[in-house]
Amino acid sequence: MKPESGKTESIWVSTANVPQFEKLNKNEDCDVCIVGAGITGLTAAYMLLKSGKSVIVVDDGSIGGGESSRTTAHITNVIDNRYHNIESLHGEDVMKLAAESQTAAINLIEKIISENNIECNFIRLPGYLIFSPDESSGELDKEYNACLRAGINVNIVPNPPVGGLGNSPCLQFPEQAEFHMVKYLSGLASSIISMGAKIYTGTHIAKITDGSPAIAETKDKLKISAHDIIVATNSPISDYLAIHTKQVANRTYVIGINIPHDSVPKALYWDTEDPYHYIRTYKEKDKDILIVGGEDHKTGQEDDPKSKFNNLYSWATERFPMAENIAYKWSGQVMEPFDGLSFIGKDPENKEHVYIVTGDSGMGITHASYAAIILDDLLNGRNNKWAEIYDPKRITLKTAPAFIKEGVNTAIQYIDLITPPEAALLNEIPAGSGAIMELGMDKQAVYKDTDGKIYRFSALCPHLKCVVEWNKLEKTWDCPCHGSRFDAKGKVINGPALTDLKKIT
Ligand SMILES: Cc1cc2nc3c(=O)[nH]c(=O)nc-3n(C[C@H](O)[C@H](O)[C@H](O)COP(=O)(O)OP(=O)(O)OC[C@H]3O[C@@H](n4cnc5c(N)ncnc54)[C@H](O)[C@@H]3O)c2cc1C
Repeated sequence: MKPESGKTESIWVSTANVPQFEKLNKNEDCDVCIVGAGITGLTAAYMLLKSGKSVIVVDDGSIGGGESSRTTAHITNVIDNRYHNIESLHGEDVMKLAAESQTAAINLIEKIISENNIECNFIRLPGYLIFSPDESSGELDKEYNACLRAGINVNIVPNPPVGGLGNSPCLQFPEQAEFHMVKYLSGLASSIISMGAKIYTGTHIAKITDGSPAIAETKDKLKISAHDIIVATNSPISDYLAIHTKQVANRTYVIGINIPHDSVPKALYWDTEDPYHYIRTYKEKDKDILIVGGEDHKTGQEDDPKSKFNNLYSWATERFPMAENIAYKWSGQVMEPFDGLSFIGKDPENKEHVYIVTGDSGMGITHASYAAIILDDLLNGRNNKWAEIYDPKRITLKTAPAFIKEGVNTAIQYIDLITPPEAALLNEIPAGSGAIMELGMDKQAVYKDTDGKIYRFSALCPHLKCVVEWNKLEKTWDCPCHGSRFDAKGKVINGPALTDLKKIT
């Protein structure tokens, strides 16, 4: 399998393949059309097929080619915004429902794997939340007590099982899990096909129209008519503004380091540093891989993304003396909702038959799985007790300061429109790289390929006209306002933008 959402390649993409499917070549109809064949789209398809719906899944890349294949695949009910924060923003009842849905998601994944005999290295294992030494000791107790009230199985243990991670008490969460994402998606796709779904890949949806039927349409005007459409594109492509002002896109980085077999106890590890780190291992034939993630920042707002790998490596070697050389490096994007809970349900801008799933908060595996349970209930006219807490149209008053802060951050990105950046001269752009150039009144995104051929585009994101930035690591154009992304030659690879960067000839 080849990486699609950027140049770097995750461990999952390097070690497994996915089934291939045809492009859409005729009009189709079905009960439910799902746009996006990542873990969200495929899990929803699985649940809806089980409840008797006819389902078509469509993706402009291949199965799992988006952020799913860039995950580190911790499967956890430990909300990384912390339970005590969820409780103080939303109250104890909402926190309990959130915890229940997270735990149900892990159980659903385990059930799907066992019912469909999916070989994907799934195991249950403990998770450890490690508090940094400069944090007040009250923080551990605060989270421990919130977890207990939420109904989460948690213990305080005297220290983490890895010496380098400190010698102070930390929280231990039994019954977490991990798997190999691409192997899971591959098995899930095969099961879905055997249950009667159709999957089309390499098919970009350029327009979604609500109504009866709801219609997903390609650039070539091929249409999928459906009673309901689920937009599982990670960042929704059906919604123009409502959701994109309630969440922010962050970029996060991962390295896989060679370590001797079984030299790090099998577990999930997270710390509370800012930015924080997330760690697990993966067994290969001759060695284990220590997978270390972190160094998050807002999409499109980092000049030196490659330095993030060095930072992660220094951090890891200080704590894991068995660490050898780096075997894998990749990055990816997560959507951070301002109030800590994801968005699942009817699209506020298309209220009839269009549903969205977004705001994974870096926990997209459980989020995708409880989303599938919720959507299966909603589309079958059943009540779901978690639906209200994830309703995309909710307004959480206590998040107002975050809205203002992010609004200011977004507005700063627009300043690029009126304050000229340093003009990059064409001959200063290295081959295989891009830069924003100012030419008269226009801002152009200019890419020079490895043969020196120049490609020019309007630098304005087609979503809301923010100026895109060149991502040196992934060789993509990233929008710092709402997280849309485009490949070096301007082709859209992530919403909310629906169309490519405008070519300048
Ligand atoms: C580095 C990293 C580490 C992570 N670690 C964890 C972790 O340990 N645990 C965890 O739970 N979560 C983790 N996450 C988050 C989680 O992996 C993701 O949230 C999740 O996989 C996203 O799945 P998805 O199906 O919603 O989106 P995607 O996998 O991105 O799928 C969306 C699909 O929609 C398609 N698409 C988009 N636009 C269109 C269009 N217009 N027409 C047709 N198709 C379209 C894309 O091609 C893509 O395949 C991590 C994420 C990253 C980046």
